[in-house]
Amino acid sequence: MAQTQQVLSSKSEALIEKENKYGAHNYHPLPVVLEKGGGVFVWDVDGKKYYDFLSAYSAVNQGHCHPKIVGAMVKQAQTLTLTSRAFHNDQLGVFEEYVTKYFGFDKVLPMNTGAEAVETALKICRKWAYEVKGTPENQAQIIVCENNFHGRTTTIISFSNDENARKNFGPFTEGFIKIPYDDIDALEAALKLNSNIAGFLVEPIQGEAGVYVPSEGYLAKAKALCAAHNALFIADEVQTGIARTGRLLATCGNCSCTQGCENTPEVKPDILILGKAISGGVYPVSAVLANNEIMNVIKPGQHGSTFGGNPVAAAVAVAALEVVRDENLSENAERLGILLRKGLNDIASRNSLISLVRGKGLLNAIVINCDEESDLAWQICLKFRDYGLLAKPTHGNKIRFAPPLVITEAQIQDCLSIIEKALNDFK
Ligand SMILES: *Cc1c(COP(=O)(O)O)cnc(C)c1O
Repeated sequence: MAQTQQVLSSKSEALIEKENKYGAHNYHPLPVVLEKGGGVFVWDVDGKKYYDFLSAYSAVNQGHCHPKIVGAMVKQAQTLTLTSRAFHNDQLGVFEEYVTKYFGFDKVLPMNTGAEAVETALKICRKWAYEVKGTPENQAQIIVCENNFHGRTTTIISFSNDENARKNFGPFTEGFIKIPYDDIDALEAALKLNSNIAGFLVEPIQGEAGVYVPSEGYLAKAKALCAAHNALFIADEVQTGIARTGRLLATCGNCSCTQGCENTPEVKPDILILGKAISGGVYPVSAVLANNEIMNVIKPGQHGSTFGGNPVAAAVAVAALEVVRDENLSENAERLGILLRKGLNDIASRNSLISLVRGKGLLNAIVINCDEESDLAWQICLKFRDYGLLAKPTHGNKIRFAPPLVITEAQIQDCLSIIEKALNDFK
C-alpha cells in the first residue's frame, strides 16, 4: 500500500526551503508551490495545473483572480487606497449601503480579517448586554461551542478547545461558556443557568472541525432559545457564508435580503460575521452586520481599525458580492454539491477508505477510515496533488472538499475521477 510520491522540482524545493529558513513555522503546508491562479485552477512554479479543492478556506468562492474583482481592485488602487476613518471616502458609504441591503441588516461595521470581525462581534455583544439588556458590569457571558474555530486572537483562543492553539498562550480572556455543538438541550440549560448570557456564538456548520453539519432545525431552535432569553444569536459565517453552502448564507434563507431564497426569518442572526469570500480572496475584508438597536451601542472612538472600510476593500467587496449574485453561485454550489456528494458516496461504496461523506453545498468533507493520529489523510492529499487536485486534511482524518463555486459539472466529474484514482492507489 505504500505509495511513491512525485519528487518536487529543485525550484519548488528551493522556495520551500526559503520559507522554512526565514518564515515562522506556524503552518504545515502541503508541499506544492503555487505561482498562478485562474477560476478553479492554480498552477505551480513548474507549470503544473491543479484543481483547487480548498479555495483558501472558502475565501476564493468566486474563483481565482476573478477579472471583475481584480479589475475593481486595480482601478481603486490607482485612485485612492487609504484615508483611515479619520476622514470620509467616496467608496465606504456605497459599500455599506450595498452590503446591508444585500444581507438585510440596518448597519455594517467593516474590518479586515475574520478574527477581527469575530472580536468586533464579541465586543458589540458585550456592550449590548450592559447598555441594552442591563447586565451588571463585567458579568456578561457568551456561550460558544466545543470544537469551534473562530480565529487566532488571544480572546478567541481563550474559548477554543484545540490544545495546540492554546498551549502556553495564557492567561486567557474570561466570560465564555462552552457547550457541545449541535446540542440544543445544552444550550437551553446554559441559558437557564445564568441570567447574564449576552449571546451565543456559533458556526452554522463547523468548518475547521471537519465540516460538521448540525441536525436539521438546530439553528432555528437555537435562535428561538436566544430570543426567549434575551441573548444575541451570533452567526460566524466567515467560512459558510457567501454562497458556499448553496445559499447566500448557511443560516439562509434567513434574511430579508434581496437574494430570492425563501425566507425563514426565524434563523436570521442578530449579529452576522462575514470574512473570507466577501472579498473573493483578493484582499482582506471582513464585516459585522446587525440592526440599529444592537449596532448603535458602538459610538465614536470605541472601536475601529486603520484599514477597516478602506476604499480598496469597499470596492473589492462590492464587486465580489456582485459576482456571487450575477453568476448564480448559490445555485451552482447547491446543484454541484449534490452531484459531488453523490459521486463521493459512490466512490465510498467501492472503496472502504472513505468512511463518511458529509457537507452542504460545496463545503464538504470525507472522513478517512483511520484514526485522527494517522497520517493516511496527509498521504492521500499528496496523492491527490500528484494527480492534479489540491486538498488538505483537517483534524487528522478528514479531508475538506471546497472548490471555488464557479466550478462546472464536467469539472466535478473530472475531480471525482481524480479522487477515485488516487484512493485506489491505497487499496
Ligand atoms: C477562517 C475563519 C475565521 C478567521 O478568519 P481569519 O481571516 O483567518 O482571521 C473565523 N471564523 C471562521 C468560521 C473561519 O472559518
